[in-house]
Amino acid sequence: MAAAELVIQKYGGTSVGNVDRIRALAERVRRVRQAGNRVVVVVSAMAGETDRLLGLAQEVTAMPAAREVDMLLATGEMVSIALVAMALQEAGCIARSFTGMQGGIITDGAHTHARIRSITTTRLQRDLSAGVIPVVAGFQGISESEELTTLGRGGSDLTAVALAAALKADSCEIYTDVDGVYTADPNLVPQARRLDRVSYDEMLEMARLGAKVLQARAVEFAKAHNVPLRVKSSFAEGNGTLVTKPDQDMERVVVTGVTADSNQAKITLTRLPDRPGIAGSLFGRIAEAGIVVDMIIQNASEGGLTDISFTVARADAQQTLAIARQSLAEIGADSVTLESGIAKVSIVGVGMQSHAGVAARMFRALAAENINIVMISTSEIKISCVIDDKYAELAVRVLHAAFQLDSPDAHGSRNA
Ligand code: ASP
Ligand code: MG
Repeated sequence: MAAAELVIQKYGGTSVGNVDRIRALAERVRRVRQAGNRVVVVVSAMAGETDRLLGLAQEVTAMPAAREVDMLLATGEMVSIALVAMALQEAGCIARSFTGMQGGIITDGAHTHARIRSITTTRLQRDLSAGVIPVVAGFQGISESEELTTLGRGGSDLTAVALAAALKADSCEIYTDVDGVYTADPNLVPQARRLDRVSYDEMLEMARLGAKVLQARAVEFAKAHNVPLRVKSSFAEGNGTLVTKPDQDMERVVVTGVTADSNQAKITLTRLPDRPGIAGSLFGRIAEAGIVVDMIIQNASEGGLTDISFTVARADAQQTLAIARQSLAEIGADSVTLESGIAKVSIVGVGMQSHAGVAARMFRALAAENINIVMISTSEIKISCVIDDKYAELAVRVLHAAFQLDSPDAHGSRNA
């Protein structure tokens, strides 16, 4: 980092998980500041806190109002900003904590998954010019009608990226408990390797497909505003992974990462009439409930009747099932079934666009382990297969090996 830069540093839940870690974080920030840089710190709630708060809400009511959920969850980040500001002051820095509102984060009114509309940076700018280190609560904002809102799970990443864009920061560093983005979850695949660089689109797919290191919406925002992100460990030194625009090196590589997502459920409707309007009416009702449908397959029809299967997030499964049941009579289908024990395994890579036979290689690798593919979907830079959940980890390992992501020099002229 060159001198006199403006740096946004975001620290996740484990990095503020206890007082010792908060002290270590403060020490790291102090050094950056001492070198002459200006720093804005964005923090998450202490590890486990958001889940703990959600658990409390569930104890009180099975259906907490979204407005009150936001009020509750926003407290998690407020604990962190106050403690981090105190630790920075104790380390000899001038620091001040900011709630989302005080940090000027204006959102729409969609409680629990609000979108950032704009950021009023006046106050932060003023403090930065005065040599203060602002410590901003991640994950929260304020709506135009002055309601407290939150930005969806993992939303502190988004706060950091949005502040980096609004303040035209020189860099945006995301500190977490792993030292970067890996070719696969190292807990599943011991041979998984850290990527030096990954493109926005690859990172976006990986985040959507189950990689937990960055929030997908934060990556989307970073891409739209061209904010390079560096994912680093707050416990180890190192360069981490740079999430940035694609380059030719990245395109030479067929597969960059392998992911698994067990948060999936499959719904099947049988013997629907095969005529225009049926799918529109079924999926229209599901969409009205705000449920996102992922993969859809419709079988070849027989005697004017067909079957449709589709997947949704497991959390939406029961509600989707209920909607599908209600629609049975109207659309003239026979039955609807729900299957929860499924997972989606995916391979991701910008290089896929220019290489043939990638899908075949994926299917052969799964077949060699006798893993049956239930559904398939593809985009320009990813191929996903739905399989039995109990083979998800095996599938990730097998695909990781099949595309030679294990090999040490795989990162230069990988798996072409
Ligand atoms: N504390 C929030 C969560 O657990 C936001 C974040 O950590 O980014 O989802
Ligand atoms: Mg996070």
